Amino acid sequence: MASLRQGCGDLRGLVSTFTQSCQGSLSEAQGQVSWALGALSAGGAGTQLPEGQQGPPTGCPGRLLELKGNIRVLCRLRPGTPCSLVSVEAGPGGTVTTCYRGRQRRFHLDWVFSPDASQEEVFGELEPAVLSCLQGYSVCIFTYGQTGTGKTYSMEGPPEDPGIAPRALQSLFREMGTGGQHRVTLSMVEIYNEAVRDLLAPGPPERLAVRQGPAGQGGIQVAGLTHWDVPNLETLHQMLSLGRSNRATAATSMNPRSSRSHALVTLTLCAASPPSAPGTAGTLHLVDLAGSERAWKAGATGTQRGDPNSAQRLREAQTINRSLLALGGVMAALRARRSHVPFRDSQLTRLLQPALGPGTTAVLLLQISTRPEDLGETVCSLKFAERVGQVELGPARRRKAPRSETPSSLSTDTPLTGTPCTPTRSPVSPPSPSPDSSSYSALGPSGDLPP
Ligand code: ADP
Ligand code: MG
Repeated sequence: MASLRQGCGDLRGLVSTFTQSCQGSLSEAQGQVSWALGALSAGGAGTQLPEGQQGPPTGCPGRLLELKGNIRVLCRLRPGTPCSLVSVEAGPGGTVTTCYRGRQRRFHLDWVFSPDASQEEVFGELEPAVLSCLQGYSVCIFTYGQTGTGKTYSMEGPPEDPGIAPRALQSLFREMGTGGQHRVTLSMVEIYNEAVRDLLAPGPPERLAVRQGPAGQGGIQVAGLTHWDVPNLETLHQMLSLGRSNRATAATSMNPRSSRSHALVTLTLCAASPPSAPGTAGTLHLVDLAGSERAWKAGATGTQRGDPNSAQRLREAQTINRSLLALGGVMAALRARRSHVPFRDSQLTRLLQPALGPGTTAVLLLQISTRPEDLGETVCSLKFAERVGQVELGPARRRKAPRSETPSSLSTDTPLTGTPCTPTRSPVSPPSPSPDSSSYSALGPSGDLPP
C-alpha cells in the first residue's frame, strides 16, 4: 500500500507539471530541429551556417540520434593479441563481428574505437556532451563491461594518460575560465554489496540511506550525502583522488586491482544568473561500473581452498550481477516505454534514476576484450549494449537552478538532501563543504528551460 501510495503521489506530481515540461521539450525540440535544418542546408550549399547561427548549440552536436534522445553507445576494445573470432569496423556507426559457438553475429554501435585508440580520441567523442552541462543539461557517461577490459582505464586512466573524468573536468574548468560564473559542487559515492557509501565524507566512508523522495515530487533522496564546493581544478583533482582511494577494490584472478564496486561521481554546475532570469543547473554523472562477468569466471566461487576471502568475493560478485541485472531490467522497460520502470530494484538503478530520466543525455561506453576465452562475456556485453542503444530518453532539456541555488547531486530533477559536516582528518584537506547542503534542492520537471 505504501509503495502504491508513493507511486500515486509521484504520478500526481508528474501530471501537474506535464504541461510545463511538454512546452519546454517542444520548444527545445523546435530549436534543435531548426538548427539541424539550417546546418543541413548550409552543408548542402557548401556555405556558412545561416545568419545568427554560430554552430550547434552546446549539447546538440547535430546528430539525428541525439535529436531523438537515444542513449549513445560507444565501444572500445582492450588492446591485446588480435583474435580472428572478433573483428571490428572502427569509426562512427562501426560494427563488431563475433564468431561464438559457430555462430556469427554482427553488432552495430554508434561508434567503435579500435584497440589502439587513444584516450584523447575517446574523450573527443564525449566532449560536446560534457560541455553541454555548462548550459544546464544533464549528462551521464557510464562504462560497462567485463572486469579487466579497461572501464577504469577509460574513465580514470593513469596519471600520465588521463581518462574521461580528468579530461572532462579539465575541459569544463577551461571553458568556464576564471569568470566565476558557475558554482561547481561535487559528490562521490560507491555502491559496494548494495551499501551506498559516501566517498567524500570528511571521516571514514559512511553508509548512506537512499529513500524515495516526498510524494508528488518523485525521485530519490540520499540522506547525509556530502557535497563539496569546488573552487578550482586542483582542488577537484585532490578530492577525486581522495574518493578513489576510499573506493573498495580487491583482487580477483581476472584483474589484480579489480573494482568490486560501482563508483558514481556527480558534478553540478549552477550558472549565476541575471536577477530577472533563472540560472541553469547542469549535471555531469560519471559512472564507473563494476565488472559484468559471471561470478564463476572471476574466480569468485566462494569454495576455493586456501582463500579465506573467497566467500566475500562470491558475495561481491553476486551483488554486482544482481545490480547489473536490475540495470538491464530498467533499460528494457525504458526501451519498451513501459509505464513502470523498475528503478527501485537495486541501489545502482535507484541512484541512476535521475541520470536516466526524460530529457537527459546518456552515453554508454562499452569495454570489450578480444581474448578467445572471454568471447561469451563479450557477446553478452555487446547484446546488452545494442539493447541500450535503442533506449530513447527524449531530446535533451536544460534545467533551471533552484531558487536556493543549492546544487543537487546525482539528480537534476529530484530533491536530495546533504548534511553539512565539519571536516575531520582526511588524506587531503578538502575545501569547506557546501554551507547549505542540508537543505533540499528541488529541481522538479518544471525546472526545464526553453532553449
Ligand atoms: P576494469 O576497470 O574494466 O576492470 P581496468 O581499467 O582496471 O579494467 O584495466 C585492466 C588493465 O588493463 C589495467 O592494467 C589497464 O591499465 C589495462 N588497460 C585497459 N585498457 C587499456 C588501454 N586502452 N591501453 C592500455 N592499457 C589498458
Ligand atoms: Mg574497474
